[in-house]
Formats: sequence, structure tokens, C-alpha cells
Amino acid sequence: MKIYGLTGGIASGKSTVTRMLRELGAHLLDADVIAREVVEPGTPGLKAVAERFPGVLGPDGRLDRAKLGARVFGDPKERAALNALLHPLIGQEFLLRTQALAEQGVERVLYDAPLLIENRLHEGMDGVLLVWVPREVQKARLRARDSLDEAAAEARLAAQLPLDEKRQHATWVVDNSGDLGATRAQVEGVWRVMLARG
Ligand code: ADP
Repeated sequence: MKIYGLTGGIASGKSTVTRMLRELGAHLLDADVIAREVVEPGTPGLKAVAERFPGVLGPDGRLDRAKLGARVFGDPKERAALNALLHPLIGQEFLLRTQALAEQGVERVLYDAPLLIENRLHEGMDGVLLVWVPREVQKARLRARDSLDEAAAEARLAAQLPLDEKRQHATWVVDNSGDLGATRAQVEGVWRVMLARG
């Protein structure tokens, strides 16, 4: 089975491309979904997080993401501690799911992960598809989608690895700065190459 990474930057069009890939019949696994599932109530993940970060459970026993976020935001040591807890659990779940898909005869999976490159997950993959736009387009779409002013949009962009840097690690770059038809044509091209690779 081939495993490909799919990534982008905030508002670069990853969700848009994901939809197109699904329409083409691609199997995708969503890193954000898995990251939420490993800390659902009753999981060893939630227990470990609650022990290491006391006070982050809400009254309903679920993880209060805002509280946890506040604890690790701006504190690299605490963030590293949280990642050290969660990343192995996420990796394990990812493995289980890809194995299950392989058993069903699925030949290729795309792992949709916003922080694929930041977390160096791309290194073990068979290829990386990056959804890229120029920074000014990214900022304009982010502002429009999330109703942000210039400063807020800049702050969100500055918190991420720039798309131009991610580009250096990409096997395929889908330039999403044109219309959706232009993007779809590129996505179909990449999908054909993936199919041809076996
Ligand atoms: P991401 O998932 O990377 O954050 P989205 O797919 O949500 O990005 O796209 C960001 C915004 O830009 C959305 O409002 C989306 O509708 C819009 N958008 C995406 N691709 C295009 C495109 N090719 N042309 C115009 N608008 C686009």
C-alpha cells in the first residue's frame, strides 16, 4: 500500500482539494479527526492528558480544548510534553486504520495533515501533495473566509511554516490560485500519477 501526505497552509485550499480527491475515489485519513478521537472520553489518551495537565477536563468529563490550548499556547515545553503524549497515540491509530484499509484491498491512502511537514511525517511517506497559493492570495482568502482584519490574518500566517518552504518537501504542488476548474485539472493529474504508480 502506498501512503501519501496531503498538506497545505491555512486557507490554501486543502479542504477544497480533499473534496475533489474524494470525488475521484481516493481514501483519505484526516489527522485532525484522529487527534480528536484519541482523547475521547474513556480513552487512555484522555487519561494521560488529564494526569499531565490537571484541570483541563470540562464538567462533562470531556477535554476542554480551549483550556488545554491556553496551557500550551506560548509555552514550547508544555506543548512538547503534550505532543509527546499524543503523537504516538495518533501514529498508532493511523497505523491501525491504514492496516484495516489495506486488508480491504485499498491500494493507496492520503493522510490529510495540516502539520505534516512541521511534524516531519512526510519523511516516511511515498510522496507529498501540497496545496499551494501565493501568500497574498492565501491572506485574501483567509480574511474573506474567516472575516479577519489584516493584522489577525498576518498573525495566523506567521504562526505557520510558509507554503514556499513547504514546497521544498512536496512531490506534487497543486497551485490553487486559479479557478476551481484549474485546480480540479491539476488534482486529476496528480491522482492519475498516483494510480499509475500502483
Ligand atoms: P483550507 O482547507 O486549506 O483552510 P479552504 O479549502 O477552506 O482552505 O479554502 C479557503 C477559502 O478559499 C474558502 O473560502 C474557499 O471557498 C476558497 N477557495 C478555495 N479554493 C479556491 C479557488 N480556487 N478559487 C477561489 N476561492 C477558493
